[in-house]
Amino acid sequence: MYKPTIKTFYNHRQVMENNIEKSFSMSPLKPKLLLRYLKRLGLTEHFFEIHHTFRPFVKEDFLIAHTEKYLDAVFTGTKPLCNSNNLPWSRELVKSLCYTNASLYKALEFASQNPDQITFSPSAGFHHARPESGGGFCTFSGQVIASIKLYRKYGLKTAWLDLDGHFGNSIEDSREFVPDLNNAVPKGFNINPSGKHLDYKLSLAHHLNLLEVAILRNEINCVVWAHGADSHEDDDMGGVCSTKEWIDCSRMFYTWVNEINAKRKKPLPVMLTLFGGYRMDDYHSVLSLHTADLICCLNTLCGHKLEYKPTIRLNPTRSGF
Ligand SMILES: [Zn+2]
Repeated sequence: MYKPTIKTFYNHRQVMENNIEKSFSMSPLKPKLLLRYLKRLGLTEHFFEIHHTFRPFVKEDFLIAHTEKYLDAVFTGTKPLCNSNNLPWSRELVKSLCYTNASLYKALEFASQNPDQITFSPSAGFHHARPESGGGFCTFSGQVIASIKLYRKYGLKTAWLDLDGHFGNSIEDSREFVPDLNNAVPKGFNINPSGKHLDYKLSLAHHLNLLEVAILRNEINCVVWAHGADSHEDDDMGGVCSTKEWIDCSRMFYTWVNEINAKRKKPLPVMLTLFGGYRMDDYHSVLSLHTADLICCLNTLCGHKLEYKPTIRLNPTRSGF
């Protein structure tokens, strides 16, 4: 039901390379590292259609979800607010954020208008931001802005499946500041599964059941799958799923998409994105998990039969060594 490639909204300007060694988060560099990793595996040529000519967001786009005071601080580098994302401030960082946030929206918009094409925004760093500050390693509320733009332009409603290891507070914390957010992302559809191991999978299954009802009633039109790698038990900052459980969640989601498409007799707009994933000892493990998720999508929804076994190194700080 879907085209054989994943349309990927990636511009090299969405990557921030300077000062990265001073920061715990590799998120600003992750899009580039992941694309390079996929290329080395020989996957980018045949399975990912890279679209790089989208325009970056400007300050006015961020006003949808943030106060003027906060935006001024971030755009000019005024402390302490410009460091509320726990990242070293630089002009290059701000420029990259204008691209990551645009990538998130353009991928969502394209999926909504071309439902037979899975889209992908290789980006992270959105879901802890608030109207008046950043949070975690997140600067701007990209989810809020993307969903609001989609709703205001097309009247379409988004559900976010946020499988990052940390609760995504950005949408809930913006509901008062952005009144039509309750339409753009109806309450209950900023989905963050809870629990650990089997309970986490059961929580996901429960939410997928509720989401299916909403989609079949036309109360949700588009779905974003954000399978953060920090929900893996060996991540430095997360840890609720084994490798098998983490991949089981991917399988559950993509199989569910197929089942819902069979009921609707048309493809559901699906967009993928990255969210968290932190390994100081072995970043390859983070990239390998994201790759396993993308391969699962290509095999389950795009008609391929690719072999890929994720290689996750045991984390000595997490595994009791
Ligand atoms: Zn996280």
